[in-house]
Amino acid sequence: GTSFFMATLIVMSNPSFSSGFIASFNPSFTSLNCQKLASHSQSHRPPTLSTARGRSTRRTFPVCSQAGSEKRICIVGGGFGGLYTALNLAKYLEAKGKSKETSVTLISDSERFVYSPFLYELVTGELQDWEVAPVYTDVLKGTGVKFLQGKAQSVDKINKTISVDLASLSGGGKQEVSYDKLILATGGNSKDEKEGEPGVFGFRSLEDAKKLRARLAGLKFANKKPIKIAVVGGGYPGIELSCSLAANMKKNVDITIFQRGDKILPRANLYNRIVATQRLAELGVKKFLRTEVVEIKDDSVSWKQNNGAVAEDKFDIIIRASSSRPSVLNGLDVQEEDGRIHVNDMLKVKEEEDLYAVGDIARCIDSSGSPVPSTAQIAMQQAEVAAWNVVADLTGGVPLTFRRQDLGEMLSLGGYTASLSSKAFGLQLDDKLAHLLRRSVYLIRMPSTDHKLKVASSWFRRLPDEIEKSLGLR
Ligand SMILES: Cc1cc2nc3c(=O)[nH]c(=O)nc-3n(C[C@H](O)[C@H](O)[C@H](O)COP(=O)(O)OP(=O)(O)OC[C@H]3O[C@@H](n4cnc5c(N)ncnc54)[C@H](O)[C@@H]3O)c2cc1C
Repeated sequence: GTSFFMATLIVMSNPSFSSGFIASFNPSFTSLNCQKLASHSQSHRPPTLSTARGRSTRRTFPVCSQAGSEKRICIVGGGFGGLYTALNLAKYLEAKGKSKETSVTLISDSERFVYSPFLYELVTGELQDWEVAPVYTDVLKGTGVKFLQGKAQSVDKINKTISVDLASLSGGGKQEVSYDKLILATGGNSKDEKEGEPGVFGFRSLEDAKKLRARLAGLKFANKKPIKIAVVGGGYPGIELSCSLAANMKKNVDITIFQRGDKILPRANLYNRIVATQRLAELGVKKFLRTEVVEIKDDSVSWKQNNGAVAEDKFDIIIRASSSRPSVLNGLDVQEEDGRIHVNDMLKVKEEEDLYAVGDIARCIDSSGSPVPSTAQIAMQQAEVAAWNVVADLTGGVPLTFRRQDLGEMLSLGGYTASLSSKAFGLQLDDKLAHLLRRSVYLIRMPSTDHKLKVASSWFRRLPDEIEKSLGLR
């Protein structure tokens, strides 16, 4: 186990890990390295990009030039799909010597990227806000990518502009941003209407996690014991959050999970499901399976029992950990299903020349014919292919098809334990070693070397403290 762990870390710490590893499984990815990029630049294939049509005379945001030879790539949404597409674009354009004549602008509505797999640790205080959610301007430093903080409202496909409500830090007001190529990466963060109520919390964003943390702190301060928590949804976020809270707060919390289906973690592999089930039992977390929640109020949950009768109970905190429905920007008028945009296996929006979509917003059947799940792992893999294909589109290179690589899954189970299972690495592991491996792998996958180094040194300083806590010495 340990030697495998070390070998895995060594392989993953190699900067070429992501494309190199993927390449070993998928021949189409081998072209994602710089040598091939250079050879593509000598290709005589004519550019597929049509020239920009009738430009708008409306005010445009100054980061994008009005016309001329500069090509403008815009990305809307700065999550795993959007941010990593921007970082890959910077790399590929640089390798192709096209950075000067191409602008890349990332538009996102908050000032921070959120590394969602670490949101549990942010709530329990094991990790700090800046570690889990670095500001975009830091992680984009030195890449040439411009960051614009604002909410994109609509897209005008004829004039190729995006209408953005700018945040005050980016100047405020409404602005039109021009593009030649647009990558949609707005994820699945739309709010549930119930989440506005005082005792009801979502669990997808940094704000959700901070609000939950503040509420827990308030209840602890008021000496509420035990704090009663309902978690609605027994998928990954619901189970991982329940374990983290139960392990962190021990006897001071009473957690009930409501799950509609007949098992928790329906999408997880069997090993992780078994480990998580045991962990929930060990931590005293209750779970109601095959249970339909019929109503959520700010302090109570009602659910249908097996006999059809409706039961109700009061809770201090109700967390909706069920999946969210993405929403497509106005004016796009593209093929969609449940708010997800249909893309082809080159990640181009169907029947569109200049639009791409990646991550949770994209409904994608990959080149092997399999539908791809909505995960950060997939969004990061798509970010490589989308960036490559946009550059290929602009420069006459050869586009790649996307094929999902299942690298496995890792679950945080609280109290410095985790469970992980990977067919690709032939690995199944749980408890503290799995926790260490999970943390290390996620550290390596964080954006920007600078941020990784800062986080690594911060963790290193806290290591003695963590070891004591994980061994139960404190
Ligand atoms: C608690 C939690 C834990 C998770 N753990 C894992 C894990 O361990 N492994 C894994 O693979 N996946 C995990 N996931 C799933 C993963 O986070 C998502 O699949 C992934 O974030 C999708 O990336 P994305 O870029 O499509 O969307 P997101 O990461 O959601 O990013 C979308 C971004 O776009 C911004 N945005 C949206 N609309 C607009 C707009 N109109 N204008 C401007 N900006 C906009 C949003 O604010 C957000 O920053 C987890 C999810 C959660 C909630």
